[in-house]
Amino acid sequence: MQAFSKINLYLEVLEKRSDGYHNLSTVMQSLGLCDLITLSTEVANACRALKLQLTCDDPHLPVDKRNLVYRAADYILKRYKINVPVSIKIEKNIPIAAGLGGGSSDCAATLVGLNKLFSLGLTADELCEIGLTFGADVPFCIRGGTQLAEGVGERLTILPPHPTCWIVLARVPVEVSTANIFSKIRLDRTRAEQSDKNVITTKNAIAAGNVAQIAGAFYNRLTGITAAAHPEVNELIMKIKTLGAINAAMSGSGPTVFGYFNNEDTAKNACAELKKTIQSVYITQPERMRMI
Ligand code: ATP
Repeated sequence: MQAFSKINLYLEVLEKRSDGYHNLSTVMQSLGLCDLITLSTEVANACRALKLQLTCDDPHLPVDKRNLVYRAADYILKRYKINVPVSIKIEKNIPIAAGLGGGSSDCAATLVGLNKLFSLGLTADELCEIGLTFGADVPFCIRGGTQLAEGVGERLTILPPHPTCWIVLARVPVEVSTANIFSKIRLDRTRAEQSDKNVITTKNAIAAGNVAQIAGAFYNRLTGITAAAHPEVNELIMKIKTLGAINAAMSGSGPTVFGYFNNEDTAKNACAELKKTIQSVYITQPERMRMI
């Protein structure tokens, strides 16, 4: 299963809920940059005593309960009383804790993959409901493509497919805590009304298939907060623009920055230039394929 990364083309934080989460309005886009999740019932004899065997090619990620893939698979095996040992392999390409939704997407691919492997017959809605218990972005990742997500991420509206363009991702080498960024948000009452208007601009640009308009409408409420702690984020946004991007913005709570390019060569040149000073640089495109 391919587990696609995502970026936020538009992200507004509307209000804090009584459960401590925030209601958002965000337009998310799946990207071709993806992890690979391989699910199998072929388990080495020595490991058959374990119901679930998880391996990952990135030593930075734990392969136990701390991994969302493990938690999602453990839940499905127990809930549907599956007694066959399962092995899962993660090939990690999406940078970790980068605002690109890698953990959520791996979790989504695991749920969708196990549903197929064991013919569980769960619908997309049922998978999204289960996915939401593991993370707010999991329902988006299950369907993928281009979507408006509202509430904490559970209210999804599928938008028309994103037009083709080239997208350069560059991760500022700093650690960002999503919870810490959200704790610093100052909210005001007029935001929801203004946000509805802004989302319409992004939706119209997508419907028109106009890359320049989509890029012109980039907005991320969290950028100021992340950049206050890490000014490198704004510096990188500026740099990507000077390298020929139509526009650039931060994804999620950061620290990854993305730039939109009309032209492959310009995007490749920008990548080469960024790689001189930044380790994590990727070139990708909007992804239309859905997991389900
Ligand atoms: P989001 O954009 O949804 O906030 P993110 O891209 O910022 O997510 P992830 O890469 O999903 O961040 O990782 C967030 C945390 O989740 C990390 O601290 C990581 O250890 C943990 N995690 C658990 N499982 C995974 C996984 N399979 N892949 C990546 N991170 C995982």
